[in-house]
Amino acid sequence: MPVPPADLTDITLIGGGPTGLFGAFYAGMRGASCRIIDSLPALGGQLATLYPEKFIFDVAGFPRVLAKDLIKAMAEQALQFGCEVRLGETVTGLLKIEDPGDGSGHFLLQTDGGEYPTRTLIICAGIGAFEARKLPVEGVEMWEGRGLDYTVQDPNALRGRRVLVVGGGDSAFDWITNLVGVAESIMLIHRRDAFRAHLATVRQVERLQRQGKCEVRTSCEVKAIEGGERVERVTLVNTKSGVEETLPFDAVVPQLGFHSDLGPVKQWGLDTEKAEIRVDRVMATNIAGIYAAGDVAAYPGKLKLIATGTAEACTAVNHAVHLIDPKKKMNPGHSSDLKIFAAQQLG
Ligand code: FAD
Repeated sequence: MPVPPADLTDITLIGGGPTGLFGAFYAGMRGASCRIIDSLPALGGQLATLYPEKFIFDVAGFPRVLAKDLIKAMAEQALQFGCEVRLGETVTGLLKIEDPGDGSGHFLLQTDGGEYPTRTLIICAGIGAFEARKLPVEGVEMWEGRGLDYTVQDPNALRGRRVLVVGGGDSAFDWITNLVGVAESIMLIHRRDAFRAHLATVRQVERLQRQGKCEVRTSCEVKAIEGGERVERVTLVNTKSGVEETLPFDAVVPQLGFHSDLGPVKQWGLDTEKAEIRVDRVMATNIAGIYAAGDVAAYPGKLKLIATGTAEACTAVNHAVHLIDPKKKMNPGHSSDLKIFAAQQLG
């Protein structure tokens, strides 16, 4: 009788955003082994990467919660049952290991870092694997992690620094408001005259500028970055006049948006529409054993919200658990009554 691979996991979740994290919690609660794979270096998906310092107001139980705090709590809840986490790995391929009739069939998920056998898959890939748009300056890569960072998880990492923020959208403006009182000085530059950020935030930053708490320059681009071990100086150029100026900075935070791509997932024969995967009412895709949940999942009436993504993860996990072992009920029962939490109920 064929022996299943030792690391065969019941459920693999592609994506460690809020949907994948809640899926991991639910898998653990249902006694299923699970694994999260994410191309980013940290858990949290869009919340950790695009808006860690923004308050969220529409998550049940929290009148308001910072995105980074919500992710911290979701990760604690998700990982309590020992879910394996593979960060910094992008999913590249999927093989179906056919069932010879003894129930040992499974999927082999391939990433740029390894191969992972799994009985079922839940794709919680959001808007796809995202990568920051790079600052278009020659040799810019050499400064990454040495003063230039496309994602900053915590404003305190920039405490006391002279910070240059590049961009004209919401995230660039949010960083200005987050860094006032933290950074020694803050300048925002944007290559155009008009901004894409919300008017209210633009007005707020204009007020901060009038108070001397930050400086905003338009029609302005980075021409060169210089320094030793770390960034020390940046040459700016006015795109209209061509006038250049070299100023001292110790941190550069480009906020030029992200590319996102579902990549190879689109080649697996799933029923997709643009960057979304069609699912039925139990989050199943057209391929048996593969489910989708969260922003990536499409069905009539879909809302792309944290609340709906977590509910979809719960549905997908319960059906995956039943598919793997039909003796296990689809309905999980109430967590408040489950044996797995008995010790925690006692305090
Ligand atoms: P994501 O958060 O996108 O996570 C998907 C993860 O999958 C990512 O970490 C990605 O790296 C990973 N991934 C993708 N493809 C691959 C691959 N091939 N290999 C490996 N990993 C991969 N929603 C609300 O409910 N309330 C709000 O107030 C709110 N505010 C928002 C504010 C902003 C600025 C933005 C951009 C969104 C906001 N949202 C809000 C929407 C919310 O963030 C999304 O609905 C939520 O993040 C979706 O979660 P997810 O886990 O499905 O996907």
